Amino acid sequence: VQHLSWPLQEVASVVESYSSADASAQRLLGVRTAAQSVEERDDATGLTDVRGRVGYEDVTFSYPESERDDAPGGDGAAAGPVVEDVSFDVEPGETVGIVGPTGAGKSTLLKLLVRFYDVDEGSVRVDGTDVRDLTLESLRGAVGFIGQDPFLFSGTIRENVAYGSPEADADAVRAALERAEADAFVADLPDGIDTTIGERGVKLSGGQRQRICLARVMLHDPAILVLDEATSHVDNETEALIQRSIESVVADRTTLVVAHRLSTVKDADRIVVLDDGEVVEQGSHEDLLGRDGLYATLWQVQVGDVQSLPEAFVDRIER
Ligand code: ADP
Repeated sequence: VQHLSWPLQEVASVVESYSSADASAQRLLGVRTAAQSVEERDDATGLTDVRGRVGYEDVTFSYPESERDDAPGGDGAAAGPVVEDVSFDVEPGETVGIVGPTGAGKSTLLKLLVRFYDVDEGSVRVDGTDVRDLTLESLRGAVGFIGQDPFLFSGTIRENVAYGSPEADADAVRAALERAEADAFVADLPDGIDTTIGERGVKLSGGQRQRICLARVMLHDPAILVLDEATSHVDNETEALIQRSIESVVADRTTLVVAHRLSTVKDADRIVVLDDGEVVEQGSHEDLLGRDGLYATLWQVQVGDVQSLPEAFVDRIER
């Protein structure tokens, strides 16, 4: 049985202190061990010709007891599933936004797709196959993940972008940076793509880090892209750049975006609205505005039309 787990933001600092010279996948991905690591089944199968269909079927999940105290944003709320009975499908090539109040379970849904955790009930499927039945290698090949705090290690930009695609040459790395709209700022760095970043190198802003990560995913070219929009404040220019690079990146692939700013997913094919771990609405932006439910309320708050905020929502909505 192969033990692998995915890099998460909690381990970013540990990972960054590693030298990049022998940053093997095993080492980088294996940092998070024990309780949270998922196992590959002995009879796991590989995926060939990924079409990019994603399905959540009656998914219910609670974080392991051991993790609950130091949970990010944990507020001591009554224990219970953080995701309950969630079902929805994403067709190949479709872009689906996942929105909802803080703590609704949005990021958790993405983590279940990439198997940071396994569901308690139901299943998450890629092209109809339960992700728990796939080899971790084929799941990683099919699904590119960009978390809130993008995972970079101490090394050059080039090494960071080519991580996971060792065969990529400098031209391929440059092309990927271009698609992620990271080429301009990289060109301004002292050694271009050979500039060292991380602890002993140049410090990058959050938006720049996300774009480097986006370039890595571009090079990797997965059929499914999963993106957890950064919650931290980025300036408007960076936000616009990220927005544009996302647009160029989502074409021709299935994309799931957790959005904290509704403007990010306004043009998505479909928006799934989560509240307290359950899907409460789904539809296009226009559909949902017309429905006058949670999405319409969240939208009014974010466009600043707070006058119309119903009492019942006052405490639940992030601004
Ligand atoms: P959202 O992305 O909608 O803000 P999350 O999926 O991050 O929500 O979190 C859903 C719930 O799960 C929250 O109550 C949060 O505190 C809890 N939670 C998130 N991550 C963990 C974790 N690693 N361990 C325990 N609880 C967690």
